[in-house]
Formats: sequence, structure tokens, C-alpha cells
Amino acid sequence: MPASHFKLNSGASIPSVGLGTWQSPKGEVRDAVCHALKSGYRHIDCAWGYQNEDEVGEGIRLSGVPREDIWITSKLFEFHHNHVRQAVQDTLDKLGVKYLDLYLMHWNIAFVPEDVPAGQLPRDSKKDPKTGKHLLDLETTENFVGVWKELEKLVDEGIVKNIGISNFSIRRTKELLKSCRIKPVVNQVELSFTFPQPELVAWLKKNDILPQAYSPLGSTGASQASLSVVDEIAKKHGVQGANVLISWQVARGCNPLPKSVTPARIENNIKLVDLSAEELEQLEKGALAQTPKKVCDQSDLVVPAYDIFEANNPTNNDKVQAAQA
Ligand code: NDP
Repeated sequence: MPASHFKLNSGASIPSVGLGTWQSPKGEVRDAVCHALKSGYRHIDCAWGYQNEDEVGEGIRLSGVPREDIWITSKLFEFHHNHVRQAVQDTLDKLGVKYLDLYLMHWNIAFVPEDVPAGQLPRDSKKDPKTGKHLLDLETTENFVGVWKELEKLVDEGIVKNIGISNFSIRRTKELLKSCRIKPVVNQVELSFTFPQPELVAWLKKNDILPQAYSPLGSTGASQASLSVVDEIAKKHGVQGANVLISWQVARGCNPLPKSVTPARIENNIKLVDLSAEELEQLEKGALAQTPKKVCDQSDLVVPAYDIFEANNPTNNDKVQAAQA
């Protein structure tokens, strides 16, 4: 039977599928969250950066499901590394809750925004004088261990039950492990059929850090329609490709966070399929075949397509571009 929960290194249990809320527009996300909770979800993945936590909170209240029955994750935005306490408070206020089950450092680098909507958290406004674009704040970048210590204080305070990381490579995670007092419980990274990151997954599991799978449907969902291995297995089980992809992540010990604002898809995506060992092997092989070989081999890479990563690590960026050429 597919796992209903994963045990974290803190001792807590996290529901094995969570609802993603990135790019869930205001006006739709409230009903999506409410529908998900009414359909049996007990895990919502949020972030300050998604700019919709107030509506997510409304959806939670509207569902009538008690707060203590729901696992709520949020993330420290990369603009807020110097304002950790204020940032988490803003998230708590927007969601309308007193504590978070999990708070993640969204990125291990901080950067300074180009445009700041009025009334949001204070931040620097440094811009590259030549390009006018936002600048990476290198001082904070190198000091993500200092940010982690601020997150540890939130656990001491009790307003955050668990802390974790996101978009951390093996190298960066090792650096953090050397000096942390509280070990991260998860690392939330892209884990999709076209970017399965087997080496990172194996390393995290070996180190008792749960890999959380973002973009488990490839972020567009529709792109999975042409994946023949997935289609074949879906047909055999009489389910959609999405169910196979989500169940595969759970079976490989990863915690998928599929996003949808469509009621029928929300209901569908929580239905896990019991995949055989042979099917799992077919999927793992099929996934690797989809991934450019050189990207696959870069154990230090996480979400290479992101500008933020490219800016932080030009050497690897060159490798990625070469691999994608
Ligand atoms: P997903 O892989 O979850 O794909 C979402 C897309 O798939 C949407 O377009 C959705 O459409 C569609 N979809 C959902 N269900 C189905 C289905 N059954 N059949 C066909 N299409 C479907 O993408 P995300 O990138 O959103 O990742 C999931 C979550 O992971 C995010 O929402 C966020 O919570 C987290 N995340 C975290 C990041 C980080 O840096 N830590 C980065 C990226 C994501 P529709 O909504 O219209 O139904």
C-alpha cells in the first residue's frame, strides 16, 4: 500500500501528498484549498512568495477542518533573510494561524527585489546601477547558516514546529549540516519525471532528510501526456498519468506537492496507485531517459533553469547550458 505519511527526523509525521499553491491565483486558491481539505488532503504547501497566503488561510477556515488536523508549510522568502521573525509573523497573520508545522528557507541565497509592492516587508532596494536589475545580496548568500540559526530560534519559540530547506544542493546541505543545531527535516526540490535527481534523492534519504517533490507533474501537467511509460502504466491501472507520477514519487520515498485549482483534478490527484516493483523500475528508467545525461550527472545541481541559480553559480550554469545545447 502507498504510504499515507512519512516520518521526519524530528519524529513528526507528514501526510504523503500535499496540495501545492504556487501560481494558484487569488480568486481561485481559496476554493481550491477548501475543496482539497474537504476531499481528504491534510497538507498544504504555501510560501510568502506566492502572494496568496491570505486566501489560502480563508480556504482553510472555510473547510471547517480543525487547524490541528492540517499540516501547513510555508517558506522564508529570499528577500527576507534579514527579517526572519517579521517574515514568519507576516505569514502567520496572513494565514490566520498561530503556528506552522514546517517553515523552509526557500532558497539558500538572498536577493534584492527590483520592484517592491507597497505595504510589504521592508527590504533593501539595491539595484545594479548599470542594468537596473535586482542584485544578489552576497553577504547574506554566504551566510545562510546565520539565517538557519534564526529559524532554529522559531522552533525554540514554538511558533514553528519543524524547519527545513528548499533548493539546496548536496554541497550546500553538507555545509549546513556541519553547523546546525536542529537538522533540516526536508529539502524541497524539483523532482519531476523529466528531472528526477536520483543522486540527490538517495543522498537525502541516507541522511534522514525527506526529499519533497515540487513540480511533480512537470509544472504544466499537460506535458506529461506524451510520456509513454507513464501512459502505459496509467492505462493498466485505469487512472490518469498524474496519479502514476504522484504515486511514483511517494513510492521512491519523496513527498509530492501537486498543484491544482481544478476541483476534479484536486480530487483525482490524492488517489494513490499501488505500483509494482517492475513498474517502479520502468518509471525510474523512463525518467532518467527523459533527462539530459549531463544534467543528470551533476550532483551539485538543483533546478538549474532558475535565473537565481545561474547567477549564483556561473560555473555550473555553463555546464547546464552545454548539457541543454
Ligand atoms: P505541478 O507539477 O504540481 O503542476 C501543476 C500544473 O499541473 C497546473 O498547471 C495544474 O493545472 C496541472 N495539473 C494538476 N493536476 C493535473 C492533472 N490531474 N492532469 C493534468 N494537469 C494537472 O507544478 P508546480 O510547479 O506548481 O509544483 C507543485 C508545488 O510545488 C507548487 O504549487 C508549490 O507549492 C511547490 N513548489 C515549490 C518550489 C520551491 O522553490 N520550493 C518551486 C515550485 C513549486 P490546474 O491548476 O489548472 O488544474
